[in-house]
Amino acid sequence: PLGGAPRKIVALSQDVVNKIAAGEIIVAPVHALKELIENAVDAGSTSLEILIKEGGLKLLQITDNGHGINRDDLPILCERFTTSKLKAFEDLTSIGTYGFRGEALASISHIAHLTVTTRTKESSCAYKAHYADGKLVPAKPGQTAEPKPTAGRQGTQITVEDLFYNVPTRRRAFRSASEEYAKILDLVGRYAVHCSGVAFTCKKHGDSTAGISVPANATTLDRIRQVHSTAVANELIAFQAANDRWGFKSQGYVSNANYSIKRTTLLLFINHRSVESSAIKKAIEQTYAQFLPKGGHPFIYLSLEIDPQRVDVNVHPTKREVNFLNEDEIIEIICDEIRSNLGKVDTSRTFMTQS
Ligand code: ADP
Ligand code: MG
Repeated sequence: PLGGAPRKIVALSQDVVNKIAAGEIIVAPVHALKELIENAVDAGSTSLEILIKEGGLKLLQITDNGHGINRDDLPILCERFTTSKLKAFEDLTSIGTYGFRGEALASISHIAHLTVTTRTKESSCAYKAHYADGKLVPAKPGQTAEPKPTAGRQGTQITVEDLFYNVPTRRRAFRSASEEYAKILDLVGRYAVHCSGVAFTCKKHGDSTAGISVPANATTLDRIRQVHSTAVANELIAFQAANDRWGFKSQGYVSNANYSIKRTTLLLFINHRSVESSAIKKAIEQTYAQFLPKGGHPFIYLSLEIDPQRVDVNVHPTKREVNFLNEDEIIEIICDEIRSNLGKVDTSRTFMTQS
């Protein structure tokens, strides 16, 4: 009961603090997967294979062919704030990789069973390690926690099992595995479109065919065709806009005035990270409203690169929110460009019918 005399203030145990922090970064399986995909891309991988059981709650596994992790780094791999990507605070303004605060693997290890198998180019074998609460643990009671030499190809395989096993309230909040799997396919689809040069597969355990499958050499249009549909891929206009004053460049594909869907599909990347922006979405929808029938919406793949000095990526550990300078000006330039592209296509259609 509230009211009455104040209760004594006590410090939370480190374990509780870590679990709270983990639950803030990882709300659903898809958030853990996003971190793992970004790590694999950071490691220079050209192939990502993803395997899912029960919407990711039972199993999330991602196998890459990147540079791997040195055996000597394995003991601290899952401690909080251990990273190979950031040294000084100032580095945040020039960071070229997805990850930078060394929290993802630590968080996952606090709320799931985590296994890492990894091999570098220089190593003669792979190493397999198990983690709990940030630390190396034995595979079975009585065994040593030391990483174990094993056979394996170059790259890293991360296995996350029984997510939220020790957070029963969170675990119970998930109604359907297929809903979680749908979120996972949506996310993998976004990165599969964006990451040229990288092959992606995403499969549900037990399925014979993959939910998403894109070869490394596929063009961006091929990727959109594979992940979305031929129907949309056939109605896209290549798009580009840049401006030195506002320190940005952007490119992508936008649907033309002959194509419309019930809800806007916006694949938005800012500095190669999948993000959401209601401001950008709203402005684009307004731009299209002039060209599409009532209730019709566009498909947009937009990759925006903004001078890192103008982006505040340090907003929140989830990094889904990105703030940048001159947002209004940048959005206006992008929408002007889309408008003029849509206008052009309209004219050519009219011209063709007349001739
Ligand atoms: P961050 O990505 O912010 O550095 P993480 O907890 O996601 O933090 O990862 C910690 C470190 O583990 C990374 O800096 C990287 O050195 C290493 N790492 C994680 N995943 C991979 C991977 N798939 N391949 C190679 N190294 C990895
Ligand atoms: Mg990371």
